Amino acid sequence: VIRCRAAVAWAPGKSLSIEEVEVAPPKAGEVRIKIVATGICHSDEHVLKGCLPNVEFPVILGHEGAGIVESIGEGVTSVKPGDKIIPLCIPQCGECSFCLNPESNFCQKFHICEPQNLLPDKTSRFSCKGRQIHHFLWVSTFAEYTVVPEYAVAKIDAAAPLDKVCLFGCGFSTGYGAAINTAKVKPGSTCAIFGLGGVGLSVVMGCKAAGASRIIAVDINKDKFAKAKELGATDCINPRDFNKPIQEVLTELTGQGVDYSFEVVGKAETMIAALASCNMSTGVCVMVGVSESGSEIAIDPMLLLTGRTWKGSMLGG
Ligand code: NAD
Ligand code: ZN
Repeated sequence: VIRCRAAVAWAPGKSLSIEEVEVAPPKAGEVRIKIVATGICHSDEHVLKGCLPNVEFPVILGHEGAGIVESIGEGVTSVKPGDKIIPLCIPQCGECSFCLNPESNFCQKFHICEPQNLLPDKTSRFSCKGRQIHHFLWVSTFAEYTVVPEYAVAKIDAAAPLDKVCLFGCGFSTGYGAAINTAKVKPGSTCAIFGLGGVGLSVVMGCKAAGASRIIAVDINKDKFAKAKELGATDCINPRDFNKPIQEVLTELTGQGVDYSFEVVGKAETMIAALASCNMSTGVCVMVGVSESGSEIAIDPMLLLTGRTWKGSMLGG
């Protein structure tokens, strides 16, 4: 058993608290990792507010990390102690029908298929003050050591700087992949991105890499615009600067609406606005933002009937 520090979320609505925790050795098919770097994603914040379903507290959050294998359980063959790795919040067992489908990045061993947040065998490797602490997305990177299933680990180059590549664990892959894999943005196209956090800025980079000629960045916080421009945005728009709905502004700006729109906020109003901002005929809207559990949105079916495509994307497809 390793004793180390972790940021524990004891209850919804409470701040994280740095605690000494015990991390049990990996069981068969599991890997114990020394986490060297972790980012913070808005999805961690959603859980902390109690907005995501099926997450029991106390829990160690964090899912955008990178580290070094400390020890391996029986039967683990793909990594060995000392290897640099990125934990995967969507695993890849490599055997199920989802993994075998090249169109999908889902896996039937995905934690989302199970309404529980312990490890897949329904036990925890974390304890603190005599209490069992739950895992999150099988990865829990807000701990100095964590235990994950072997199929939720990707070995990376030994020279990779862990403080930078940790962003591949969620934010960068999610945004860049939403543009490249899910929307399949074409050269010369027009794109609109709602929300310019780490994920939205990565969508901007993906649209630029795909050769989009116009990239319209939308955020209610104008402080995000400088970075968006640096990364490839051609226009930056604050919906609060207009007294009409942002979808009307975007439609007027582009003639008939954008070719691709991305919702990277997680609110019903921006989801509807993003769908209505892409053009009839061939417009594609990709949902990336996570909404509060149980929330619903109402749309005019005519928006889809007239040819728009509405898609969701997790971890960049
Ligand atoms: P973030 O909080 O860093 O950024 C969100 C941005 O949205 C902020 O800049 C904020 O000012 C802006 N915003 C808020 N309301 C707005 C509005 N009405 N119109 C325009 N902009 C608005 O968040 P993040 O870490 O970049 O994550 C973004 C979303 O993506 C979150 O909902 C997160 O849970 C989700 N997410 C999804 C996946 C996935 O796999 N689908 C992965 C990671 C994150
Ligand atoms: Zn995330």
